[in-house]
Amino acid sequence: AAKPIDITAQPVLTMKNLGEDVPIPSVKSFNPPIRLLCGPGPGNAHPRVYSAMSLPQVGHLDPYFLEMMEDIKSLLRYSFQTNNSFTIPVSGTGSAAMEACVANMIEPGDVFLIGCNGYFGKRLVDMGKRYGAVPVTMDRPWGQVFTYEEIKEAIEKHKPKVLALVHAETSTGACQPFDGVGELCRKHGVLLIADCVTSISGVPLYLDKWGVDAAYAGTQKALSCPPGVAPLSFSDRAMDKLMNRKTDVANWYLDMRMVASYIGSNTGGARSYHHTAPISMCYALREALEIVREEGLENRWKKHRDAAEMFWSGLQEMGLEPLVAYEHRLPTLTTIKVPQGIDPKQVTNFVLHKYGIEIGNGLGELSGKVWRVGLMGVNATPLIAMTVLSAMKDALR
Ligand code: PLP
Repeated sequence: AAKPIDITAQPVLTMKNLGEDVPIPSVKSFNPPIRLLCGPGPGNAHPRVYSAMSLPQVGHLDPYFLEMMEDIKSLLRYSFQTNNSFTIPVSGTGSAAMEACVANMIEPGDVFLIGCNGYFGKRLVDMGKRYGAVPVTMDRPWGQVFTYEEIKEAIEKHKPKVLALVHAETSTGACQPFDGVGELCRKHGVLLIADCVTSISGVPLYLDKWGVDAAYAGTQKALSCPPGVAPLSFSDRAMDKLMNRKTDVANWYLDMRMVASYIGSNTGGARSYHHTAPISMCYALREALEIVREEGLENRWKKHRDAAEMFWSGLQEMGLEPLVAYEHRLPTLTTIKVPQGIDPKQVTNFVLHKYGIEIGNGLGELSGKVWRVGLMGVNATPLIAMTVLSAMKDALR
């Protein structure tokens, strides 16, 4: 019988380069697998967010885009619970907004106090050094948080210009309390930076009430938007430091004084080109934030807590133990202690290949010691909590 014609077979194409025939690479068909993303991030994006990304592009100085940017800024203020005028999406991922906070708030020689109780505290130390700060750390075992007293003592001892705390430590699953820290910082003339990457829209977060001066977040966690832009907000105190710096911000792309004249001002004045904003990512973020507004922040926080509580009960039934004490446990991201004799990577590989579910392995100091399960945004549901538990149960059988 005649063989069926293979319509995928490609002739090898060549092109001339310096007189020689060189092959033009052929690539495999592109068909990403459908995964349930329940690791530390990215999580799955909301279908409405994907649709928004495919809408026609306008120019980045088009009045339509500028109007939409104002909507993004006001929706971001809602998700951050702030009235900060300078609240914008930074072009880049969470680390770009993190670096924007450090680069703009630190002047060379500034003492920079950092809460180090996980991987992302360490990243802040690294960034601080690169911008000429004198980093000083408060240290805690991974999975624990800092008490108000410890923070007070460290501020009084080191007299920093800037303090950074990670609100939601994705490497450990711990949620840092902020009560009273903002007042402490104001009393001692310290600027307060908060990492809200894994908390925004998933965990109660109040920038103004807590007195946070510079906050950055991520889109790919509880906002259910792919990575590519990152929320950032500066208080008036932070803007004051920025506008009165003695030195230039040592990062051209992330110089928020220049970015402010591009997308930061909402006074209706002329905007000057700085870089080309990622238009489709801004559409995506706009839609993700609009969904948060429609759901209501408090409902959204509750949805994350309910899914997490269900997940934690299931873990208990399976004899698995979360790393973090109940009162400081993040609803968005749970770290689970790997029982003795189990190879954690075999479990993550099993659930990925059998069920198409991604859960995370431990990071840094917790590598090999925990799994990380994120129930964030669209994945913060009872159905998905139960699905992940069942897959893990099967893997551990
Ligand atoms: N901070 C925390 C707490 C994070 O979890 C992450 C990413 O997972 C980041 C910062 C950096 O964000 P990104 O990986 O989007 O650059």
